[in-house]
Amino acid sequence: MALIVQKFGGSSVADAERIFNVARIIGDTYDAGNSVVAVVSAQGDTTDDLIAKAQEINPGASKREMDVLLSTGEQISISLLAMALEKLGYPCKSLTGWQAGVLTDSTHGSSRVRRINKERLENELGKGNILIVAGFQGINRYDDITTLGRGGSDTSAVALAAALHADNCQIFTDVDGVYTADPRLVPNAHKLEEVSYDEMLELASLGAQVLHNRSVEMAQKYNVKLEVLSSLERKPGTQIKEVVQVEKMLIRGVARDNDVTRISIIGVADTPGVAFRIFSALAAAKINVDIILQSVGRDGTKDISFTISRSYKHEAMEIMENLKTALNAHEVAVDDNVSKVSIVGSGMQTNPGVASKMFEALADANINIHMISTSEIKISVLIDLDESQRAVVAIHEAFEV
Ligand code: ASP
Ligand code: MG
Repeated sequence: MALIVQKFGGSSVADAERIFNVARIIGDTYDAGNSVVAVVSAQGDTTDDLIAKAQEINPGASKREMDVLLSTGEQISISLLAMALEKLGYPCKSLTGWQAGVLTDSTHGSSRVRRINKERLENELGKGNILIVAGFQGINRYDDITTLGRGGSDTSAVALAAALHADNCQIFTDVDGVYTADPRLVPNAHKLEEVSYDEMLELASLGAQVLHNRSVEMAQKYNVKLEVLSSLERKPGTQIKEVVQVEKMLIRGVARDNDVTRISIIGVADTPGVAFRIFSALAAAKINVDIILQSVGRDGTKDISFTISRSYKHEAMEIMENLKTALNAHEVAVDDNVSKVSIVGSGMQTNPGVASKMFEALADANINIHMISTSEIKISVLIDLDESQRAVVAIHEAFEV
């Protein structure tokens, strides 16, 4: 008998019909002789609607109260799903985060799971119950409700799978797996049978929004076998695991991220300590920097550019304007009209020429590259926003992924 954790996203439980569809998936898994822990998100756009409600009352509401509010979305889902399973005749119990023993740190709005107190879970599973656990939420050491950040139900599912040593953690969603590129951008993108944790982590952080980043990190750390699959069609999805065959595939996928702003500080002194002052000021404001480029010094000055998420633009510009005088810079420039396009694949570690192939595809499409960054299994370029779709298509084509 296996223990299977199944997570269902908001669109999979959006209405009564979909809830019964999910109940049948869970029921069939149970009937096949497995123990099942299901984790669910809030229905449809519930979380967004709740945020809008809070905005009406108090846009400056404390994060503690936001967590009390937002966690109700998942509580609705677990009860409705349990009622559907009851109606189909299955023994089941819904559990909120705290009832399921999900203990987190105390950072409201973006908590991390610390530990899972398994007693209640194991007890109920032992009695043959199907468990329906509210995703996205837990409880901190002050007994206050916490949430794990938007999209956090994936992480709830992986945390439960790790704690219970589940044989499998299935993430059901409205797409049927992880694709070589966003099918809305590239019509001939295709579904991957498998992806390694490292590749998935890169893809997740590069704007391929299939899985919550932290869920992949946690799955890798605790060696939880993940599968991303559709709740609407019953067919195999994409397996995410440690080792996958590299085969002839040089790269696993092409990703695009439009949530990018480039800031450039032009004409700062070409002396030690300048980069340190810029990036320590950003770090102190907890602003995450992605690509960094420094020009060759000429006539005693140099330029430094970096990219950040658009949400930090105003904060970062304020910091740079303040530094401008201190650093004697000529100018601070900001550019929102950019996009980051990346290729990801473990295969590039052992195959030379991958970067050049990507750059060739861009050159042939007459697309100019502003910045380049690389890691062992990823190459990213910053290009103009209005060329990003063409770029993804051209690169996807060049690699025949
Ligand atoms: N309901 C929460 C959200 O929309 C958590 C989740 O869906 O995973 O962010
Ligand atoms: Mg959601």
